[in-house]
Amino acid sequence: MGIKVVKFGGSSVADAIQLQKVKNIVLADPDRKFVIVSAPGKRFSEDSKITDLLYLCKTHIDHNVSPEHVFQVICDRFRSMEMNLGVNIGIEKDLEEIRSNLKSGITADYIASRGEYLCGKLAAAVLGFDFVDPAGLIQFDERGRHLPEETHKALCAELAKHECAVIPGFYGSNPDGTIRTFSRGGSDVTGSLVAKAVNADMYENWTDVSGFLMADPRIVDSPKPIKNITYKELRELSYMGASVLHEDAVFPVREVNIPINIRNTNEPENPGTIISDTPSESDNAITGIAGRKDFVVIALYKNMMNSEIGFVKRLLTILENNEIAFEHLPSGIDTVCLVISKKQLEGKLTDLIDDIEKRLKPDSVEIYQDMALIATVGLGMSRRIGVSATLFTALSKAQVNVRMIDQGSSEMNIIVGVENDHFETAIKAIYDAFVS
Ligand code: ASP
Repeated sequence: MGIKVVKFGGSSVADAIQLQKVKNIVLADPDRKFVIVSAPGKRFSEDSKITDLLYLCKTHIDHNVSPEHVFQVICDRFRSMEMNLGVNIGIEKDLEEIRSNLKSGITADYIASRGEYLCGKLAAAVLGFDFVDPAGLIQFDERGRHLPEETHKALCAELAKHECAVIPGFYGSNPDGTIRTFSRGGSDVTGSLVAKAVNADMYENWTDVSGFLMADPRIVDSPKPIKNITYKELRELSYMGASVLHEDAVFPVREVNIPINIRNTNEPENPGTIISDTPSESDNAITGIAGRKDFVVIALYKNMMNSEIGFVKRLLTILENNEIAFEHLPSGIDTVCLVISKKQLEGKLTDLIDDIEKRLKPDSVEIYQDMALIATVGLGMSRRIGVSATLFTALSKAQVNVRMIDQGSSEMNIIVGVENDHFETAIKAIYDAFVS
């Protein structure tokens, strides 16, 4: 027998029907011993997440407006969950306590954390598991920085006392005992910390999609699922926007080699995607394709740039002085391109170009607005001949003009820059070329 840590996201615990699915999933496998829950999320697309409503209560208070009508909506959702699940967690007492804390000017972090807290209590009652409050276990310093070692020690000691437990996600506490949350989506991080602490064999992350797909289904018709992906490949694809997990959730489990399995609460028979350090044995040369629109490419040309010592250093200093982060920096013999997200450049482009012209004296500066970047990712590509040929042939057949090419030194990612208008056509063309 092993141990599985299972985390359920907001849509998986959105109401009593969803929590019933959670119960079936957890009880179907005796290895599923530690359960982490988010706060109830949206039940339908126009619905509100409990966490958003809780933050809204705080905004009301900050503006001297009574939060009561928003708080009532929250109370009603939890009351109906308790009733429909047929459990009794004494929710009125908890709601009363939260209401009185709201009046006493409590912090946003405390308020935001109550969604997970109440949901955790409901889930524990439904499952017949112990309820373990992460306050005092998941620890932060005075400045709100997470303390991984202290947390690990405290979680190991506490969880050893429980055979099966539910732990609310998203929050822990400061040294003075007050509540502190991770950034949004942080229940994924809680799950990862718990998985490490109980030395789990698997960290199952249950959400509303059946893992990762090889491409965005809004662009490609029924893209194939990714069964296995390495952490490195995941990092490349999530950077490009294919994100399902909180960024910080990977590190704790990766350190100790615990795989993550992304699963779908609404389709539990689907095996989902396994994220681990073991490269996939699939026949595909690539693992996935992802991309993002709205980049600006600034191309500098200067004769003999290659022998001008410190050119790129000065370029980067100019960026730093203008407080601009860049995404990529492909270079040629006498050229260098800056790839920067459009957002970063808002209101700063003219000053940046002025500085570049004054200090670097390039022969020419060209600016390409409205560019998209597309990453074709796969560890398998480094061992294969013809991957680039396939990619660029596909793009040229689809009449897509490639404005920039960047192959990371990891040799598992080819990034192309195309015009925003060619984005969807390019992704479809690459997918069709590699996936039969
Ligand atoms: N409930 C929190 C949020 O909506 C945390 C989480 O779900 O992971 O961001």
